[in-house]
Amino acid sequence: MIVILKQNADKAQISQLESWIRSMGLDIHKSQGQNSTILGLVGDTSKVDIDLVGALDIVENVKRIQEPYKNANRKFHPLDTVVDIGGVKIGGGHFAVIAGPCSVESEAQICEVAAAVKASGALLLRGGAFKPRTSPYSFQGMRGEGIKLLSEAKAKTGLPIVTEIMDISQLPLFENVDMIQVGARNMQNFELLKELGHVDKPILLKRGLASTIEELLMSAEYIMAGGNENVILCERGIRTFETATTRNTLDLCAIPVLKERTHLPVIIDPSHATGVARLVKPMCIAATAAGADGLIVEVHNDPAHALCDGKQSLTPEAFDDVMKCVEAIRPYAYKG
Ligand code: PEP
Ligand code: MN
Repeated sequence: MIVILKQNADKAQISQLESWIRSMGLDIHKSQGQNSTILGLVGDTSKVDIDLVGALDIVENVKRIQEPYKNANRKFHPLDTVVDIGGVKIGGGHFAVIAGPCSVESEAQICEVAAAVKASGALLLRGGAFKPRTSPYSFQGMRGEGIKLLSEAKAKTGLPIVTEIMDISQLPLFENVDMIQVGARNMQNFELLKELGHVDKPILLKRGLASTIEELLMSAEYIMAGGNENVILCERGIRTFETATTRNTLDLCAIPVLKERTHLPVIIDPSHATGVARLVKPMCIAATAAGADGLIVEVHNDPAHALCDGKQSLTPEAFDDVMKCVEAIRPYAYKG
């Protein structure tokens, strides 16, 4: 971090600032020019509040030159992290597709979809039990019962299961869940993230609807700072001014940009990004080509009657076709 002091800054205030910086365990590299003084802060500046420093009377400008995230930073962990989810690996060259319905609706539904997506090559099963719905009158998910049905589908197919947590009080129900999803709406639920930092299960962290890449990485940092290093990042579309056809705008560039900055695996959710089933295939192909470590795709055995997100759900047949295209593209995927 570089702190540029105002011309003629008061000497007593400068030395107060210097002692404060040193009290945070940082060294100072001071360069005294003719007109201004620059303080270079040396050490781990991730705990320094840049806004607080910038608001001081004697400070002209302050700039971060080191990212505020450490555990998630590729600079301190150059090798790709490989996350193991019940025996299925994602990251560091391991690619996996997670598929299943938006919501678990019944035993027949989840078991039928699980068997179908497995036959097409999906390695993990998704299904929402706790659903974050915009309207309180929409289907809210089967909650604990939904997780039980997911577990049945897991027992039948052997597919590890992924489902969303909305509140830490739900954690006891997640014992048999292989990866816990934090949805877009909870990406900055910092108390939840802190708790998940102490959980011994991989976390699928989705990017918030209006969150920057740095904010996503800071949320991953919350989980990792608690000791849980098994975090997978998921780009699922962001809100932009574009409203033509799509529900959100898929930020495909997030794949290479995140991979430059972090060692964590990055997957793409084309279902929530587009909101339209026919756009899922081209985005699966594009995300795979751009170097994603995996995909999470909504598949339903009867999309027209789905209780949630039917419009964006693929039929098992359409999913099978997508999987064939994805497999064909994989050898040509961008590797950085
Ligand atoms: C979901 O995966 O069903 C979901 C609600 O996703 P998101 O949090 O990305 O909207
Ligand atoms: Mn959904």
